[in-house]
Amino acid sequence: MTAVHPPVARMIHVTGVVQGVGFRPFVYRIAMRHGLAGWVRNVAGTVEIHVEGDTGQLDEFEAELRAEAPPVAHIDTLRSEPSESLGVAEFRITESADAEGNRPVPPDVAICVRCEAELQHPRGRRYRHPFITCTDCGPRYTVIDALPYDRERTSMAVFPMCERCRMEYETPADRRHHAETIACNTCGPRVWLASREGTELAEGDTAIREAASLLVEGGVVAIRGVGGFHLACDATNDAAVKRLRERKHRDAKPLAVMVATLAGAREIASVSAAEARLLSGPERPILLLPRREGARVTASVAPSLGWIGVMLAYSPLHHLLLDATGCPLVMTSGNLSDEPIAIGNDEALRRLARVADAFLLHDREILSRVDDSVVRFVDGAPLLVRRSRGYAPLPLRVPVPSPDPLVAVGPHLKNTFTLVRGDSAYVSPHIGDLESVESLVHFSAALQRYRDLFRIEPTVVVRDLHPGYLSTRIAAELGLAREISVQHHHAHIAAVAAEHGVTDRVVGVALDGTGYGDDGHVWGAEVLVADLLGYERKAHLAYVPLPGGDAAAREPWRVAAGYASLDPDAAPAFAAAFAGVTDEERAIVTRQIERRLNCPLASSMGRLFDAAAAVLGVRRGKSYEGQAAMELESLAGTHVAESLPLGITEDRGTLRIDPLPLLIALGERRRRGDDVRTLAARFHESVIDAIVRVALRIADAEKLRTVALGGGSFQNARLLTGVRQGLTSAGLDVLVPSRLGPNDGAISYGQAAVGAALLARAV
Ligand code: ZN
Ligand code: ZN
Ligand code: FE
Repeated sequence: MTAVHPPVARMIHVTGVVQGVGFRPFVYRIAMRHGLAGWVRNVAGTVEIHVEGDTGQLDEFEAELRAEAPPVAHIDTLRSEPSESLGVAEFRITESADAEGNRPVPPDVAICVRCEAELQHPRGRRYRHPFITCTDCGPRYTVIDALPYDRERTSMAVFPMCERCRMEYETPADRRHHAETIACNTCGPRVWLASREGTELAEGDTAIREAASLLVEGGVVAIRGVGGFHLACDATNDAAVKRLRERKHRDAKPLAVMVATLAGAREIASVSAAEARLLSGPERPILLLPRREGARVTASVAPSLGWIGVMLAYSPLHHLLLDATGCPLVMTSGNLSDEPIAIGNDEALRRLARVADAFLLHDREILSRVDDSVVRFVDGAPLLVRRSRGYAPLPLRVPVPSPDPLVAVGPHLKNTFTLVRGDSAYVSPHIGDLESVESLVHFSAALQRYRDLFRIEPTVVVRDLHPGYLSTRIAAELGLAREISVQHHHAHIAAVAAEHGVTDRVVGVALDGTGYGDDGHVWGAEVLVADLLGYERKAHLAYVPLPGGDAAAREPWRVAAGYASLDPDAAPAFAAAFAGVTDEERAIVTRQIERRLNCPLASSMGRLFDAAAAVLGVRRGKSYEGQAAMELESLAGTHVAESLPLGITEDRGTLRIDPLPLLIALGERRRRGDDVRTLAARFHESVIDAIVRVALRIADAEKLRTVALGGGSFQNARLLTGVRQGLTSAGLDVLVPSRLGPNDGAISYGQAAVGAALLARAV
């Protein structure tokens, strides 16, 4: 191991996600390969490597460090400098040195191929072990209690390693060297099946097989997973799926389906090469995929939609279960309608007693609640619909570092929060809608975990403009020295600009359902000229009264009634929107509009989609947020269609887009019997056309070349593709959300970027 020449020494600092991902053993292995001496250790968020040997070997060592890093590691920087030779004879992994600094916590990683193979290998000592992991895979964020990441600070601490696991853990050449979650059939966590009352019915393999039989017979089983509970049933059994929906109070919202293999995914959906890579990658999100005709999965899994949410098994327990059932499983979050998912055994037994027929439990505690992430591909690139497991808590950057540590508490719906220190932004996993006590408790617990894990004590809070949101109350209750409020759509555009590192003024197109405007009205179709410090509203949809306020968002016909009230002559065109609505309901709504009772004014793209869906007779009544838009998109498919005109007028420098002529044209054509799919496509093209024209006009007038697109409406692939193409073909640069999604999950990050920039300017 000693070099022939006097050894040359180097000190290498690696930053990024390099802890808890098997990085030190990996360094050890390549050092051994090249016969180098020295040491590797974790220091705060970085890995420090001291190596000595001959120059050629050192160069190769460095090249391989970059090229062969473990799949879960993300190297941000790798800095190498000459150092003094210590004359050491061997290479060692030394203990973690604890120090302050930005220390990324790795996200949870799906089971790797090697562990999967061991799981199925009858002669291996981890045959069918439901908690098999290695340095390349397994839970991380959900089991980590504190940093540095060592077994005693995880929920695996209560499982003392057996002799053989200890050996592997301590052997540098072993795949499980320093695998903090190492376990086997002798020493690992235990799985058991419990009745609704909590009585243990079976354990180990028998428990898994009995859970599988229950599923095959049409039962609903609550399954403790990685970041929380799932509710599972046979996805090919229509009655079972309907039973699950009924018990969970989830009428029509699509349910995700889990399969064991890529081949299984291809049986129910069409999967591109890029989609296949993400589907089976370490993040393993739910992918929204075009549904295959005649697939075994029952239609009630995702009613009236052209796509289906599919994920691959990501834990060993999932694999064992799916092998035993032999059918794709609905795997939806273990909660009632919009509450947070359950994570504890007792909590699940209490909250899900009326939903599940049995509970498949285990005793590896889940310390952080993390939902499955959701992704859809648009134009060949992934678009995050929900950024959670597999992604959080990886940090992002804000372009302007914050002089003070801050917390941005996020929006009202699809909430996340973001903690910032310097230029590191730690966006929380999906929290959900801040509408229940449970969600508030979840918010506080998650925030506390983030503060502890990343050791950030915020002194500034950033929140939404809305005075009445629960997030605003949370902000006040934090009692911090300073409070900054950021308009919702400004935050959308700031989020997109910031993740691309852009601090210059851009044209920002923010399209979504709702956000509190600075004029007190409901905003949601806004073209801004903005940078991180501020914005001007340059265009928006013409205001429409929303009878019933929030109720209108759940019943598209009410929005149509709002639009119809703007032009009494247009009544015939709106006729289809009110089929099935009683005269009494109509009368109440008419009164609300006339007297302006609980009837806010809205400029909302989401509500325009609702109105169009009602006018086309696609959806009038009860619906979940975004349903009408998703159904219209599904109907439109890829039908080629021409646009219809919207009115564009200018009022004191602000452009107003009037969709009434479009809605009337759609209603009239529907009455004449035009095909609804073509009309849905024409609706999309009309909106795209109007948005592109308005954005171009503003870009021209302001001499700007960059447009940022944000807001939940851009989850609509046709809308996003169309607007982007229209703008790029006119020569503009278009920024689209990439590391975060377009929807409100990105708001807290946008608030944080704005807050940081404002604080930095004030310094
Ligand atoms: Zn593994
Ligand atoms: Zn063991
Ligand atoms: Fe929004």
